[in-house]
Amino acid sequence: GMYVCGPTVYNDVHIGNCRTFISFDVIYRYLLHQGYKVRYVRNITDVGHLENDADSGEDKIAKKAKLENLEPMEIVQKYTNGFHDVMKAFNVLPPSIEPTATAHLVEQIETTQQIIDKGFAYVSNGSVYFDVEKFAKSNSYGELSGRKIDELISATRENLDGQDDKKSSLDFALWKKASPEHIMQWNSPWSKGFPGWHLECSVMSTKYLGEQFDIHGGGMDLKFPHHECEIAQSRTCSGHDPVNYWMHTNMLLLNGQKMAKSTGNFILPDEILTGDNKVLSKAFSASVVRFFNMQANYRSILDFSSDALEASEKGYLKLMDALSSLANLSTQNSSSINISEWKQKCYAAMNDDFNTPVLISHLFEGVKFINQIKEDKASITAEDLVIFATTMNAFVFDVLGLLNDVKEQSSDKIDGVVALLIKLRKEARENKEWDLSDQIRDELLAIGIQLKDGREGTTYSMS
Ligand code: AMP
Ligand code: ZN
Repeated sequence: GMYVCGPTVYNDVHIGNCRTFISFDVIYRYLLHQGYKVRYVRNITDVGHLENDADSGEDKIAKKAKLENLEPMEIVQKYTNGFHDVMKAFNVLPPSIEPTATAHLVEQIETTQQIIDKGFAYVSNGSVYFDVEKFAKSNSYGELSGRKIDELISATRENLDGQDDKKSSLDFALWKKASPEHIMQWNSPWSKGFPGWHLECSVMSTKYLGEQFDIHGGGMDLKFPHHECEIAQSRTCSGHDPVNYWMHTNMLLLNGQKMAKSTGNFILPDEILTGDNKVLSKAFSASVVRFFNMQANYRSILDFSSDALEASEKGYLKLMDALSSLANLSTQNSSSINISEWKQKCYAAMNDDFNTPVLISHLFEGVKFINQIKEDKASITAEDLVIFATTMNAFVFDVLGLLNDVKEQSSDKIDGVVALLIKLRKEARENKEWDLSDQIRDELLAIGIQLKDGREGTTYSMS
C-alpha cells in the first residue's frame, strides 16, 4: 500500500509539484518491476485546504471559483483535468485509486466523532479542533519533523492571535463551521461546514489501505504540520502509527527559492514543452524533464535552470542514441564485459532508497559498453546481449519511465521537410524547370530518401 498526497486542484500544477509526482511514479514503477502488487492511492484535494495551509482564511478552491466566476466544482474539474493531462504528458502512471475529499464526507464526519469520543477533540463555535497539547501529554508529537512539543507550545503562545476559536494555535481543525456565504458546506452534528485538510488524508488512506500501511509520501513541505497531524489523528483512532515508511521528496528550486504557487516563483509544464518562458533558452521534451528530475536523489533539493535542462537533454539523447543501436550489436564467442556484475549494480542502486542518480551512472557505463562493442573495443556473447539489452530497456523505459521521443520528433520534422521539397518539385515541374525537379529527386535519393510518383500524388520512403 502506498499513499501520496495529491494536488489541491485550484490552479495549474507547476513543475515543482511534478517533481514530487514523477519521483513517486519511479518508486511505484520500480516496485511493480520487482513484482510487488501495489495499491497506489493518490488523492485529489477538492475541499478544506485553506489559504496558507492554516485553519482560518478562505478555501483555496472557493477563492479561485469567485475569481474565475465559476462553481467550485467547475474549478475542481478544470484543474483535475489539467493535472491528468500533465501527468500523461510526463508518462506518469495513474494511481490505482484517486479518491476525492468531497466523496468521503461521511467517513470524515465519523472519524471526527470518534476523535471527540476518545477525548482528543473539542467543539468550539460549531467547529471541531484536535487538542494537540492534550494528545502530546500521552503521546509523542513532532517526531517525524523533528519538532519538540515544548518549543512548539512556547512559539505558538507568543503568536496567539486570539482571532480563532482554538484553545491553542497548535490545535488543528477536523471540521470547520462555514460562514453563510461559503458555498462548499455540508451538514454535520456540529454545524454546516467542511472537513479539515489533514483529516481527509487520514480517512482516505485508512479506508483504502487499512490502519497501517507501507508507504506514505508527499513533498517535504507536508511533513509539518500535515503529516504530523495525520499521525496524531491515526494514533488516536487506532492506537498505533499509520505508516511503516514515510517518504518525502525534496523541493525543486527556482532562483534558489522553493517553487510555489503562492509566491508566483514557478514554471508551468506547458512553458517548458513550448519554451515559452524567459528563463528557458528553448523548448524541452517531457522525457528530458523526467530525466532531469532523476539526476538527483528524490531526497535532495534540485535547482531548476535552462542550463541544467540542456545538460540533461545531452545525456538523454546520448542514452537514446546508444539504446537504438543495442539490437544491432554484433556478438562474439566471449564477453569482455561482466554483464551480470553490471546488472547487479543497477539493482543495488535502486534498492538503496531508489537512488536514481547512481542508477543513471551505471546506465551510462552501459552506454560506454555499447560504444566499445560498436568500435570492436569490447565483445559480448549473444546470451549476455539479451541480458544487457533487457536490463537497459527495463530500467530506462519501465522504471525511469522515459519515452524515446527523439525518433518521433525527428520523423515529424523529416515528414515536414520532405513534404515541402515534394511541393517545390511539383511547382518546378509545372513550370517545366526539369533540371530543378530532377535535382530535388536525385539529391534526396542520394541521402536515402526515395520519391515515388503515384496517382494519389508523391510519397516517399527512406532506406
Ligand atoms: P499542493 O497542490 O500545493 O498541495 O502540492 C502538491 C504536491 O506537490 C505536494 O506533495 C507538495 O509537497 C509538492 N510540492 C509543492 N511544491 C513543490 C516543489 N517546489 N518541489 C517539489 N514538490 C513540491
Ligand atoms: Zn495529504
